[in-house]
Order: sequence, then C-alpha cells, then structure tokens
Amino acid sequence: MTTTRAAVQTAARELEFRDLDLPDGVDSGEALVRVEGCGICGADYERYLGDMDESDMFEYPVVIGHEPVGVIEKIGADARDRWGVGAGDRIAIEPFAPCGVCEHCTRGEYTICDQRFIYGTTSLSVGAGIWGGFAEQMLLRPGTVVHEISRSTSIEDATFFNPLGAGFEWVCRAGDAGVGDSILVMGPGQRGLSAVIAAAESGCDPLIASGLADDRPRLDIAESFGATHTVDVENESLTERIETITDDRGVDVVVDTTPGVTEPIVDAIEAVRPGGTIVLAGTKGMKTVEGFVSDKLVLNNISIEGTLGTRAWSFERAIDIIETGDYDLTQLHSHTLGLSELERAIKLQGGEADENAFHVTVTPNDD
Ligand SMILES: [Zn+2]
Ligand SMILES: [Zn+2]
Repeated sequence: MTTTRAAVQTAARELEFRDLDLPDGVDSGEALVRVEGCGICGADYERYLGDMDESDMFEYPVVIGHEPVGVIEKIGADARDRWGVGAGDRIAIEPFAPCGVCEHCTRGEYTICDQRFIYGTTSLSVGAGIWGGFAEQMLLRPGTVVHEISRSTSIEDATFFNPLGAGFEWVCRAGDAGVGDSILVMGPGQRGLSAVIAAAESGCDPLIASGLADDRPRLDIAESFGATHTVDVENESLTERIETITDDRGVDVVVDTTPGVTEPIVDAIEAVRPGGTIVLAGTKGMKTVEGFVSDKLVLNNISIEGTLGTRAWSFERAIDIIETGDYDLTQLHSHTLGLSELERAIKLQGGEADENAFHVTVTPNDD
C-alpha cells in the first residue's frame, strides 16, 4: 500500500504531518486527486484556533484544507459520467459534497445539506480519511462538485476560484445586483476584492469599495478592478460619501465582507436605499451587533441576506473570469508556501505574523 503526506490537525493549534494509507483503487463514484495547491481563508485560521471545537462540523483528527485544485489520478466510472471529467484533468473542488437528495439539496440549497460533508472538516475516522487539500493527494467522494480548470492557469490564480466564486455568490445571487445597480463592498480583503470583480463584471455602477486607512493599497487594487469610488472610513464619513455619490438615495446593495467587526452592519443599514439589500458575508465571531435597530429594516423595507458557501454557478463564473486573465490577480497573491510551512501560512492568513498576507496558496511541493 502506498501512502500520502497530509497535514492533520489534532487539537487547537496542533498540526502534524502524517503519511496516510491510500486506498488501492477507487469506488465507482469516487476519484483520487493529486493536489497541486490549496488556498487558505479565515475559516482555516478559526479552525486552527479551535473556534470550531464545539461544532459537530469539525472533528479531530482531520486533514485540513478546503480550497483545493489538483489533477485527477484515478476516477471511477460513475464519477466520470456524473462529473464529466477524466483522469489527467485539472479540477477545482468545491468544499461541500452534498447528498443530493435531502430537502435542502432538492431545493438547490446544497451548502446547507443535512449531511454537511465538507472537505477539510471531516475526520480521519470517516472512510479513507484523506478528505482535505493540505495533502499530496485527496480522495473525492460521491456528490462532490468539481469544475475543470485550464492547465495553463497558474496555481495561484487557480486556487483563487474559491474567493472569487464567493464574490459572485454574494453580489449576483444573494444581492441580485446587476447592470446599473449601485453597490457598496465593505472590506477590501481577498473576498471583498472578489466581490468588486463580480460587481464590475455584472455592470454595477456606481461601484464603491470601503476600507480602513491601512487598506489604501488594496483600495487602489479595487479601483484597478473597476471600483468607481473608494472610501477610507477612518478619514472620511462613509455616510456622507454615499449620500454624495448617490444623490442622497443610498445604494441598491451592500456586501459586507469585514471579519470580526459589527460596526459595518450598522453602517450598511445607513448606506442602503429603502427597498435595498444587505448581504452579510463576513462572520463576526458570534458577537451581538451594538446599535442595531431592527425597525430601520421594517420601515425602509430593507432585506438582510446571510450566506454560507458558494454554489456551482458562481464557481463556474469565477473560473471563466480567471481563465480569461482580464483581471491581474497577481496583485493579490502574497505567498506560495510548501506544505511543511502550513502552520506559518495559516498564521499569516490570521494576521499572526509581521508580514501582511493576502491570498496565500499552499502547495505540496516543498521546493
Ligand atoms: Zn475557505
Ligand atoms: Zn443533502
């Protein structure tokens, strides 16, 4: 039996590398993938800290990593038919592998599938156990949703499929924003800038991006991606800028991608027009929102949308954009690190390092 090297989280802040047994073959509905790279997001850092310890969605010991891109080494006949890909194809793998038959799945809400099988969160004790992208190889189970991605795309651009897919999910699906709609994207992280690309692609105008004073370089990137206005909320009044830009009307859609802080939710309620929509995309560490007045939603007919995960059509759109090369994503790639440096990569993503990280890719090759 051959083995594969994988990063296994065994407790909060405890990572180790193990050589795990690979199955001899794959079942008809499965595939074995040679991982080329895996992106990192805030969720990896939260899990690293142990924030998910109380949740039944994350069980130790677990091979982590949920934003992988790789090449199919072996694939069963059923998986080949259902997924439309074969051995040798390069694929981006969605984090959720839904059951396809529960009430949520049949409504198309497969990211809240009753079964909740999520790559990078499922214990080693389940089946072959190699269900994470921070590994040399990983197994794909029936129900997995995969998207073919060009081999000529750099691995850093390819792993950007995940944040960019989320951007389309928030702007187009949750926010229902389209041509001529005004939009405010709060927070210029990798996900905020993904939302800016999605809004630009959708014809949103004006397209406003906001951030802190230190975010100036990222707000400049937002402009290069098509933002018509940027606001430094520490040195300017967001409310006044929005009033000026929209002639006191307010924006049609606000997408809040800021992690951990609740003030932007209160600001979003001020910024959105009556009848508009606020999409909550950043999690806030389970904090209550100070200054939240629900009557403002009622009296102004404002909708708030919460979103978990991204669905296939948003990932398809993201991969199309990545393959065109229309947006210079190299501005966002701050680090490409080998698997042995995973802990550093996660800490970089969590801001626990001197250097600033942006989009970080981990590759199994340590050279
Ligand atoms: Zn993620
Ligand atoms: Zn389901």
